[in-house]
Amino acid sequence: MRLCAGTALATASFVYGGDIACAADIDTVYSTFETYNGDDLEMTVAGNSTRFALWSPEAEAAKVYIYPTGLNSAPEDTLEMMRTANGVWRAEAGEALYGKFYTFSIKHNGKWLKETPGIWAKAVGVNGERAAIIDFAKTDPEGWDADRGPAIANITDAVIYEMHHRDFSMHQSSGIVNKGKFLALTEQDARSSLGDKTGIDHLKELGVTHVHILPSYDYNSVDETRLPENGYNWGYDPLNYNAPEGSYSTNPMNPAVRVTEMKEMVKALHDAGIGVVMDVVYNHTAQNDDSNFSLTAPGYFYRHRADGSYSDASGCGNETASERRQMGDFIVNSVKYWAKEYHIDGFRFDLMAIHDTETMNRVAEELKKINPDIFVYGEGWTAGDSPLPVERRALKDNVSAMPQVAVFSDDIRDAVKGHYSDAKDRGFATGKPGLEETVKIGIVGATAHPQVDYSKGNNSKKPYALAPTQVINYVSCHDDLMLTDKLAKSLPGESLADRQRAHKLAETIVFTSQGTPFMFAGEEIYRDKKGVHNSYKSPDSINAIDWTLKHQNAELFQYYKELVKLRKTHPAFRMTTAEDVARYLVFDKVDEPNLISYSLKNHANGDAWKEIKLVFNGSNEPKQVKIPSGEWLLVARDGNLVAEGMGKIKGGKIIVEPRSALIVAKEK
Ligand code: CA
Repeated sequence: MRLCAGTALATASFVYGGDIACAADIDTVYSTFETYNGDDLEMTVAGNSTRFALWSPEAEAAKVYIYPTGLNSAPEDTLEMMRTANGVWRAEAGEALYGKFYTFSIKHNGKWLKETPGIWAKAVGVNGERAAIIDFAKTDPEGWDADRGPAIANITDAVIYEMHHRDFSMHQSSGIVNKGKFLALTEQDARSSLGDKTGIDHLKELGVTHVHILPSYDYNSVDETRLPENGYNWGYDPLNYNAPEGSYSTNPMNPAVRVTEMKEMVKALHDAGIGVVMDVVYNHTAQNDDSNFSLTAPGYFYRHRADGSYSDASGCGNETASERRQMGDFIVNSVKYWAKEYHIDGFRFDLMAIHDTETMNRVAEELKKINPDIFVYGEGWTAGDSPLPVERRALKDNVSAMPQVAVFSDDIRDAVKGHYSDAKDRGFATGKPGLEETVKIGIVGATAHPQVDYSKGNNSKKPYALAPTQVINYVSCHDDLMLTDKLAKSLPGESLADRQRAHKLAETIVFTSQGTPFMFAGEEIYRDKKGVHNSYKSPDSINAIDWTLKHQNAELFQYYKELVKLRKTHPAFRMTTAEDVARYLVFDKVDEPNLISYSLKNHANGDAWKEIKLVFNGSNEPKQVKIPSGEWLLVARDGNLVAEGMGKIKGGKIIVEPRSALIVAKEK
């Protein structure tokens, strides 16, 4: 996530009311608070009873308001809450209040605060202002009990496709009826205006294993009462963490609809053999003093500076405090809830380094108990400094302290295509010399390898990953210039064909590297975002994928399909230990800029092929390499790739064409 419209730094008027001299004192005070980790927080219906429970240890009083509608109505009932053990306030209504809405309000420092749906609302009315009481058993699609995501032995078996709901289906050419909605992904047989497969059929055709959906919890920025004219946002502005976003439903006024439709989306993807990864943003909230956290337990859920102001490692005006027990438990319980209720298969943590490593380890451990195939990865960085000590942050450099968590490799990203912060900067695949060693760090999945000199690494100076299962490899995502735009800016004046050669080379490096490959939706058909690098609220004209491009760029799409297939067919690209990578992956000595050659040897990781040799030529000149004698299966050459091979080739001196990958295999 890299966005934010420069949220003004508000002063934390809610910080604990005592005389507090510094941030450390605040932490000391909060550490004495009683916490509560029961699963009955917020609201439960049991028989003829509706029970409310709110954790708010410093509240002087608390109330529940019951409403007939999700907005614009007066409360029809008010329940006084009673303080009970562990800082929890409770109230009970003597009937099942299905169909009603509610809010909480607490009295703090002698003042009643604004109403809040609480932090555990699982269903909400329009714009998430009031929580809703619905019967979740009725939200399950048919066959939900038997619904399962794809089985994968290791995260490195995944091929991740990052997608925004509106990007994927909004364009008039998509052939999809429910444009911009969860239901878009349930539509079978969708075709573009030129007859190509779109929607879920497109995903099946491409062969990706997991769709990573941008934030789909209820976020703040899109006014759900003014759909469809109030359009686009990435959604990195969390409001209600445990309810789906209303604008992706066909009716945000009816709280059950978004729940049902999101489940239908998950089920349709699962039925297609595709898993669902959710992008989660527990690191900050859209609002400060008015957030549901602040209105529930003022001050507690956030970090602050010594002067009491909100600290801001998110760059969005605040940062949450995962190291405090109730906040850490909230994160853990929230992802567990999504995994159980919505059958989510993976979680991508935004600005993960704002969280502490201990919480991230709990997240991964608890999710693996629900389903060992669930995986967790995140951005191993922050967007600003934090009061959390560096050694406790879930940073890329600290990933060895989180064995079951993976981080994005900015090493391979910036080295292959050029630095993200400089549009014109080129990378290994676009002819800039000197990045070979950093690309190699990507190829070995940032593990310790005897032939990789980390002192020459651009972004990392040490092998940070314990295993390739801890690294997500990518060159394109929603942040910054996506690959098509990056190539347009860094290769001005070059032909489309030449840029597409670089495009193929860049993704070939990603998909054959150790670690888990990650791609950005639509790049496989050469979509662009008209050069907009931070399109978080850009209109559909920038963000929507034009599916007629699939026809124009059919050859590029075919290349991607074969690349995905190659990776999925060959475990040599998916090793799971650093020891295997060090043993089976052997670099050749080539001391030329923009040239890397290596082999995956001895049926690496149980591969059917005895040896796979890969040569990447990122220069604009043909390069001659020496391939050992004997007969090889030709898999990729000069911008063509066929996973099963395209004939035989004899070893010896072979030309590797400009900006292309040569892949050959010795079958036995
Ligand atoms: Ca919303």
